[in-house]
Amino acid sequence: MFDLPQEFSDRMKDELGTEYDAFIQSYTRPAEKAVRANTLKITPEEFEKLAPVPLDGKVPWEESGFYAQGEGLGKTVLHAAGLYYVQEPSAMCAVPELEIKSGERVLDLCAAPGGKSTQIAQYMQGEGILVANEMDFKRHGILKSNIERCGVKNAAVTCQSPENLAGYYQSYFDKILVDAPCSGEGMFKKEEAAVREWSLKNVQACAARQAKILESAHKMLAGGGRLVYSTCTFAPDEDERQIQNFLNLHPEYSLVKIKKLLPHKVRGEGHFCAVLEKPSGEHAEDFRLKSIKPSDKKEFEEFKKGVISADFKNIVKLGDSVYSLVDNFPAELKAGVKLGEVKGGRFEPAHALAMCLKPKEFSGLEVDEATAIKYLRGLTFDCTVENGWRVVTYKGYPLGWCKVVNGVAKNHLPKGIRI
Ligand code: SAM
Repeated sequence: MFDLPQEFSDRMKDELGTEYDAFIQSYTRPAEKAVRANTLKITPEEFEKLAPVPLDGKVPWEESGFYAQGEGLGKTVLHAAGLYYVQEPSAMCAVPELEIKSGERVLDLCAAPGGKSTQIAQYMQGEGILVANEMDFKRHGILKSNIERCGVKNAAVTCQSPENLAGYYQSYFDKILVDAPCSGEGMFKKEEAAVREWSLKNVQACAARQAKILESAHKMLAGGGRLVYSTCTFAPDEDERQIQNFLNLHPEYSLVKIKKLLPHKVRGEGHFCAVLEKPSGEHAEDFRLKSIKPSDKKEFEEFKKGVISADFKNIVKLGDSVYSLVDNFPAELKAGVKLGEVKGGRFEPAHALAMCLKPKEFSGLEVDEATAIKYLRGLTFDCTVENGWRVVTYKGYPLGWCKVVNGVAKNHLPKGIRI
């Protein structure tokens, strides 16, 4: 077992008393692994039958979550198809607390790499608007790619500081998740860096940053809205005391519940989650879409013939790119799905379009596992179908686009996601 920081152990001993030995014992067990069936594409029951990795029971607090075993959980073809998301089991406990209802406006304020955003998207089932925000530009790219892989059709992925975002969306969201950057005490077993970087000073710095993030969240939450705050740390300054300080500043809020998952009590690492509700009050009006020119659909409608049967709403051309946008949201934020780009008068489909299609909504090119791996590596492969754009599928699930030319499927998987 690795050495825990002394000041951390002392504090946990004080807090846990007789439970401390069991807590320390939990560090000798390997970290639990888990996956979440992506219910935008598959039911948990179907996933159980198809899972490419050994499953080991259900995660009690998330209906689509399964404990899983083995290595390379995120390296299978079905993972590339977005059928599941690899997520630490305890980290699945916060999103159900949002109690998402159809058509709501939901903000995930600290969203990368996207575990909780893709989980939120499952609860939304394409209705309403999800703003998934990550202020770190590089991590925002990873978030975007996970949102695409999982076939989310109703999200705007933004890269803003919480303060900037709060200037734009006052009293707008029905639900906000703040999965705050924290000292990561609950991740000591999984991430060596969390142990190395831990210090009392860092806990205080995290607490100060979290308080600022919570203030921005407060401004963006509509009257009657729900705020879920979560961390993967045990530090009271970042957890219970953080919430108490927030309530002192905003006594109008009610504290619905606090959940603290401890690794000696559950199958999972440490996680904290507090659920707060704002009293009814200001609720910002819907944004309005900019007017949509009917001619904008032309190239996409032409492309669709014989390739896709799915219907898309609010089709908008912004520059050379064509999007299907969610209702009542500013077009420039591109909340929805990128359908493709018009290049020299021709339509080139976007990866996001392939990934949000359901079986029966397209004409696919089914491949075996070896060919799927070849495709995911960015290679071409031979086939016997007619020329044209095809969605490459494995077990019926889209992996991305290829263009068939005289018996050769040319690879159109974006370079950044090839394996
Ligand atoms: N919710 C994510 C998930 O489930 O995949 C994990 C989020 S992680 C715990 C916290 C995120 O907050 C990181 O991606 C980090 O870049 C971001 N972050 C760091 N400083 C921030 C700040 N001052 N305001 C908002 N987000 C910040």
